[in-house]
Amino acid sequence: MLIVMRPDATAQDIERVNDEIRRRGWQPHAIPGETRTAIGITGNPGAVEPEPFRVLPGVADAVPVSQPFKLVSREVKPDDTTIQLGNLVLGSQKTVHVIAGPCSVESHEQIISTAKAVKKSGATMLRGGAFKPRTSPYEFQGLKGDGLQLLAEARKETGLRVITEAKDTATLNAVAEVADIIQIGARNMQNFSLLEAAGELRKPIMLKRGLSASIKELLMAAEYVVARGNTQVILCERGIRTFETMTRNTLDLNAIPMLKALTHLPVWADPSHGVGVRKAVPAMMRAAIAAGADGLIVEVHPDPPRAKSDGFQSLDFSEFDKVMTEVRAVAAALGRDVARLD
Ligand code: PEP
Ligand code: MN
Repeated sequence: MLIVMRPDATAQDIERVNDEIRRRGWQPHAIPGETRTAIGITGNPGAVEPEPFRVLPGVADAVPVSQPFKLVSREVKPDDTTIQLGNLVLGSQKTVHVIAGPCSVESHEQIISTAKAVKKSGATMLRGGAFKPRTSPYEFQGLKGDGLQLLAEARKETGLRVITEAKDTATLNAVAEVADIIQIGARNMQNFSLLEAAGELRKPIMLKRGLSASIKELLMAAEYVVARGNTQVILCERGIRTFETMTRNTLDLNAIPMLKALTHLPVWADPSHGVGVRKAVPAMMRAAIAAGADGLIVEVHPDPPRAKSDGFQSLDFSEFDKVMTEVRAVAAALGRDVARLD
């Protein structure tokens, strides 16, 4: 159920509705819009009777929400959610943002040189894993705390915002201290304790689609974070498992327009993991922007064959520079632009 307030509803009217919801043992969630506030309800065991709410002062309507995901749905909040990072605005439809950097932070030289190169080519944010969830326990697991410090140095040196993964609840706070955006990886999309802990933070979260997760499951996972009060969630399509073996995953471009229609949250694409084959990554970067993604997250490494993780899908500096020109052209053809730092 969504309680839609009239544009002239007072703060007192809103509080009265909140009280009525709490009195029934449920939770109200105020969703401010451009012209009016709506109030979502969670915690209700079944259908909510609309009439007792419709008669309250300041209430325009009480409408049922048809989707199982509520707070993240466009039904509940038609306006796009934007995420402000200093002077950067993510999710504005018009302006695309590109996040680039290595799969893993490996050394001072590697992360600083990559940060400078991707900034020059037009990225506004730097990626780099410090705590790496690897398929094999014998593979490089990341520089952990030292990796976080290197990301902080790269931010200081270049002004790029940084995104890095929180692999578990034990390291979430350490990651949150440094990261501008906290990544929750595909393998953790349904780690409900991690989602709940991320929901308690007031920092942007990038939630990546699970390897075999449906669009609905991705939205339900985001609902866990938003239901705890952290409304700053970015969804990321990063490829799903299919029968195809020529590529590592199948970037589900379908998901981009579907998600844009179903949710107000920003929608990102990760063509690096989505394809997993370096040669095909630029084409899928262009395609994801054409499909309406709000941004891209791309793996870039100074020397991909020597990367400690995911070198086979990482672009080198010149490949990244070239594709960024193409991405700008695709965005411009659709009346959009690609943000730059200066
Ligand atoms: C990554 O971004 O390097 C990563 C591990 O991503 P995913 O969780 O999508 O596999
Ligand atoms: Mn990777």
